Amino acid sequence: MTMQAPHLKQIVIAGGGTAGWMVAAALSSLLEPRDVTITLVESDAIGTVGVGEATIPDILAFNQMLGIDEAEFMAATHATFKLGIQFVDWGKVGDRYFHPFGQHGADMRGIDFHQYWLRSRADGNPSAIDAYSLCAVAAQANRFTLPDPNPRSVRSQIRYAYHFDATLYARFLRRYAEARGVRRVEGIVRNVRRAADADAIAGLDLVDGRAVDGDFFFDCTGFRALLTADTLDVGYDDWSHWLPCDRALAVPSAHAGPLPPYTRATARGAGWQWRIPTQRRTGNGHIYSSAFLSDDAAADILLGGLDGPALADPRQIRFTAGCRKRFWTGNCIAIGLAAGFLEPLESTSIYLIQEGISRFISLFPTADIPYIVRTEYNRHMRTEFEQVRDFIILHYAATERDDTAFWNHCRTMALPDTLNHKIALFRETGRVFRYEEELFARPSWVAVLLGQRVVPKTFDPIIATLPSGDVAHSLQSMQRAIQAAAEQMPTHQQFIAHFCPAQAA
Ligand code: FAD
Repeated sequence: MTMQAPHLKQIVIAGGGTAGWMVAAALSSLLEPRDVTITLVESDAIGTVGVGEATIPDILAFNQMLGIDEAEFMAATHATFKLGIQFVDWGKVGDRYFHPFGQHGADMRGIDFHQYWLRSRADGNPSAIDAYSLCAVAAQANRFTLPDPNPRSVRSQIRYAYHFDATLYARFLRRYAEARGVRRVEGIVRNVRRAADADAIAGLDLVDGRAVDGDFFFDCTGFRALLTADTLDVGYDDWSHWLPCDRALAVPSAHAGPLPPYTRATARGAGWQWRIPTQRRTGNGHIYSSAFLSDDAAADILLGGLDGPALADPRQIRFTAGCRKRFWTGNCIAIGLAAGFLEPLESTSIYLIQEGISRFISLFPTADIPYIVRTEYNRHMRTEFEQVRDFIILHYAATERDDTAFWNHCRTMALPDTLNHKIALFRETGRVFRYEEELFARPSWVAVLLGQRVVPKTFDPIIATLPSGDVAHSLQSMQRAIQAAAEQMPTHQQFIAHFCPAQAA
């Protein structure tokens, strides 16, 4: 007979930013309040980081798991649709490419689509690979519609995510979680009490004298990492030798022109600038390296690169690229900025929060918290962080830019072996593979590699044997079908006005 160990009874979440409320919402949708209490401690006086507006398609699965109505969520968070990211000036000043969600074209006879495109290019096809992605074509025409569930329809190729107001998302999830029994405690944590016997936490002591005890803790205190860094002394792996940007200036601006269904990331002299459209305003930020650029110059570049008038003064945020040496220690998991930070070039932070939550749920421990469970969680999350890290480094490393000291540094820096291998394989053979459960699949790597001028020496030898007319014909008909499907879509603005107009906050 097996003896089931006792279950967790008191879960405490420290911090109520996007991370804290995503944890609270997910756990409250899953656990019976009679069995397990969930308490979230946050401080309005401290506030949240207040950025984080662009997402990737995985967020749809998170919202669906919670049973959230899409139109209601979008109206409440002033969300817009996102079909991908437009990258400007990365491979060379003047370059422009699109990293769409979903596939380019269609794989044929088991061979990747981009191999056909490479062949057609060698035969003289002038169209960029973007022209074979419905998401890229629709995005750049400022059009949007939801995917067609019929897989035979070209419109079934639509993949999307959202841009939203992160503060409103946290508020939306708070309502959801409180309605399912989560208790919110407003207060400042003064001291984190360690358990007497182990690498574990016993409770949080608040400034006003109250104590919040628990048997499991989530450290969602943001960059402070109060539980993980301060109390459990977990170190940080600093990746700034690969990702030298360490500051951001963020500022909202008024809309100018049509509402784009995509994020724009424009490379600058010592970093890059984002433009993220929500329904009521555009979020902008300049991520830069303080070793190469002063704060004043960074602010000038940011404000000079806005499409519409600024609606506030720029706000600065400092960070170090990297992640915790351990995410789960004893009875405490760090999630969100407490777990690590990778710049939002591919909008991955909220995804990493989500991944931390779903991996915790799939490893949901008994109260004795077996060591192997923590080890597995830490292995998985480290792999996730490292894979995302490599993909982000690729954007800096694969460049011909030599116009500033920053770009000279990035172009010539030593890379992680894992990334070197991927780039070399692509350069030599045009092949790229997804390892383990890697977040970014082949089409993403292909989009960025090609977009940043990593051109393979050869293409698939099997395709070399096909008649060139056949390849050209297949590609032309795909391109025409995509163009026609995009032209039939409403504009993004029209779609939003009909589907999910913003509610007053
Ligand atoms: P925070 O928002 O900092 O929340 C911390 C919480 O802890 C707050 O509630 C605070 O009150 C509480 N707290 C802290 N100390 C105490 C204390 N002593 N007592 C009580 N409470 C305390 N992510 C994306 O997915 N897409 C993006 O486009 C994106 N852009 C970003 C741009 C920048 C410049 C930065 C810095 C981040 C970006 N992110 C993005 C990341 C995203 O903002 C975060 O991952 C997300 O907001 C989660 O933050 P958090 O909840 O971990 O931390």
